[in-house]
Amino acid sequence: MSDTYTQDDQRLKPVPLDLYSWTPLPTSNSKEDTVKICIIPTSTLTVPVKEFSAFAKGDEREDSPCWSFLIEKGDEAILWDMGLREDPQNAPKPIVDGPLKEFIPHPGPGPVSPLKEHGFDFGKLKLVVFSHQHFDHTLPSPAPSILLGPGSLESMRPGFPKDVNSAWPASWLKKYHFVELPDKDTTGLWTSEVGSQPPTSTSGIQRKWNKVGCFDRGVDWFGDGSLWFLDAPGHCPGHIMALCRVTAQPDTYILLGGDASHHQGLYLPVPTEQEDLRSPIPVIDGNPQLALNPELATYTIGQLTRMSKEDNIMAILAHEGQVDGVVDKYPGDLSLWQEKGWKAKKEEDVKRQADARKNTTRG
Ligand SMILES: [Zn+2]
Repeated sequence: MSDTYTQDDQRLKPVPLDLYSWTPLPTSNSKEDTVKICIIPTSTLTVPVKEFSAFAKGDEREDSPCWSFLIEKGDEAILWDMGLREDPQNAPKPIVDGPLKEFIPHPGPGPVSPLKEHGFDFGKLKLVVFSHQHFDHTLPSPAPSILLGPGSLESMRPGFPKDVNSAWPASWLKKYHFVELPDKDTTGLWTSEVGSQPPTSTSGIQRKWNKVGCFDRGVDWFGDGSLWFLDAPGHCPGHIMALCRVTAQPDTYILLGGDASHHQGLYLPVPTEQEDLRSPIPVIDGNPQLALNPELATYTIGQLTRMSKEDNIMAILAHEGQVDGVVDKYPGDLSLWQEKGWKAKKEEDVKRQADARKNTTRG
């Protein structure tokens, strides 16, 4: 098959939901089997919409937030993504001359300053997780370890400037302690460091890849179903998502989608029996945008849709602007999203736009 794509390429067609198998999410045993999640604004990129959605009208640009998330359980905490560095001009040259020419950065202070302002105890922070290695998610880590998805490190090494094409500072690779989720072919219990990587909440934790929801590989990090890291490839090597149970009995979840999609229009609205109004990955000059493996990325975007079909799951992308002004931000938390109707509210625009397109096509 050719490496050039057309916009109506079958390989990029949004995947029908009945193609995904479904493994029911394990139910909580107690009210405590949850994590608390807060969304923290960090920075913004002004982006050409045509790189995010095939439904862009022309050269319009929009502001795309870079969210960070604090995940807390008891007296331990994890940071999921950190946004853009404050000095993007000092990023490796391939970033400055590449994406930063397209995406205009409005850097912020990252999540650490707001956490400090609110008196967060950094002794609680056991882990930083990067949904993936890209420059708009990664900052110097305030935690003892950084967790990455499978195969990330191989693609980051040796780093810039040893490799002049690398987007990763070699100095960061030296400075921080990285831990990686095991390869997708790993079966059985994880015996390497990642198997016992804190935070663990209980001793004797037994981590391994399990099927969960529509994902073939997820790890139940705390062993109580409150936090899953999910293998979600396609955007770049090692891209992962996180599924977080924020209330128990009844169980409700937030799915942190990372950069699996950069726009709601790719995974929403959830298709009905009659129609599927999702955008395919946009194609410019024969190149699918922001997906290293476009077919895998298309499959992974469909997983965001399949999860969103569940009434008790709300997805949030790392750059999802539509949650701005809808959900409470840090120090508020996302636990009561269902009770507060945030999912329907953040989807109002994407549904309205899909309806408008439908009417134009019919007209
Ligand atoms: Zn990103």
